[in-house]
Amino acid sequence: METIRNLIDGDACDAESGSRLDVVDPATGAVYAEAPDSDAADIERAVEAARKAFPAWSETPAGERAAWLRRIADHIEGDAERFARAESIDNGKPVALARAVDIPRSVANLRFFASAVEQFASEMHQADRETINYTLRQPRGVAGLISPWNLPLYLFTWKIAPALAAGNTAVAKPSELTPMTASMLGDVCREAGLPAGVLNIVHGLGAKVGPTLTEHPRVPTISFTGGTVTGRDIAARAAPRFKKLSLELGGKNPNLVFADCDLDRAVSESVRAGFANQGEICLCGSRIFVEEAIYDTFVERYVERVKALRVGDPLEDGTDVGALVSAAHRDKVESYVELAREEGGTILAGGKRADAPNARCAGGFFFEPTVVTDLDVACRVQTEEIFGPVVTITSFRDEAQAIEYANATDYGLAATIWTENLSRAHRVAEAVDCGVQWINCWLVRDLRVPFGGMKQSGVGREGGLEALRFFTETKNVCVRVER
Ligand code: NAD
Repeated sequence: METIRNLIDGDACDAESGSRLDVVDPATGAVYAEAPDSDAADIERAVEAARKAFPAWSETPAGERAAWLRRIADHIEGDAERFARAESIDNGKPVALARAVDIPRSVANLRFFASAVEQFASEMHQADRETINYTLRQPRGVAGLISPWNLPLYLFTWKIAPALAAGNTAVAKPSELTPMTASMLGDVCREAGLPAGVLNIVHGLGAKVGPTLTEHPRVPTISFTGGTVTGRDIAARAAPRFKKLSLELGGKNPNLVFADCDLDRAVSESVRAGFANQGEICLCGSRIFVEEAIYDTFVERYVERVKALRVGDPLEDGTDVGALVSAAHRDKVESYVELAREEGGTILAGGKRADAPNARCAGGFFFEPTVVTDLDVACRVQTEEIFGPVVTITSFRDEAQAIEYANATDYGLAATIWTENLSRAHRVAEAVDCGVQWINCWLVRDLRVPFGGMKQSGVGREGGLEALRFFTETKNVCVRVER
């Protein structure tokens, strides 16, 4: 049994109450670790440690803060294989994916914001000879950072890196379902000698520790990535306290395939967009819309490719689809497939729990990659986030209808557009209500660009300058110049 600990004021510690939570390996269904079941007392200690550390950290030159982030990145990179295995065991994702994406991207997040803060500049405005305005962007204090289970270390560092780079200290809470690599990050911070209290990591149940953090009077900044329902709760708690809030929430992303696309590429990338990380990426293109002229061909080729995906032991190379994160989540996905049948859908691939790939995984939470057609665009399966290996395919008549279908949910995170017609690509990107748009590609990420959703997919943008601006307070200083 492995033991996960909080990082508070530079110490690796249990919850003050001594209470612990079971951590389950989704591929086997077995408890393999225990994590602190923290409560308000642990959050209080963490916030106090972060508050104490803030003056010195915020006055540390940006170049030195950047050097700390690079040191932490180097430690993770030097131990990348152990991190990748840990992420795979904790989350159920294929280890090959953790190796190729999760861990390198976590390292890149830290290095990116180290460089970004060294380049961070602010504005000066001069309207006449009598006055000069300059803008200060100062760290805001203790940042509360809350992240989900689907890309555990990747999204955790995506918040920690800009918060710390900008001179804030932080209390960070990973998901209780996937606490392992956050705990390992805590070990790295201690080994690297990061000053005590700069980063505090508190494990525990969201409903138990989350509200204490989001309501805390000494935490003026909250950055949250997770579900829309949780985001609404956080927004309601933060609003009366006038906190600065960034919310990256759920998605139900349209993937629009026009008849003039490069069909080979559209098919293969749409399979990846549907089922990478078991469909558990907020950016997955789970609603595919295909122009009538190529609908039958697309569906035939798509389904053939999906049936060839290998559901397997996450620790084995060659596995395309691993285990879903928990039994509860597997049950939720299963209930949506049942609903798809009730709503009149036709299941062309998958549709049920997958057989265990081997004896080790007999108790694991596997589900077959599933393709559903013949659903109305307004039905629940087509409008609610499933966040699993379930894709719907629907035909559209023309560009106007494609846009109408794309916008037919309350979400507005990411859209993908497949067409070789340049003007159409631009027109559609402009008309679809999503904060992130890809044309003829998917999940290509430049860390400098604004990232985030519209409508119920979130408020605010992360990435590059947007993140550094979010984690700083803007002050304008107007100076009269005597002539
Ligand atoms: P979740 O909302 O259940 O949990 C996210 C985090 O919030 C966890 O750490 C959890 O412990 C914590 N939490 C739960 N209740 C809380 C409360 N009342 N107050 C404060 N914190 C609380 O989400 P999840 O199931 O972990 O993640 C899946 C969701 O995240 C999906 O909806 C997915 O689309 C979304 N997501 C969005 C993005 C994005 O960038 N927009 C990225 C990844 C995942």
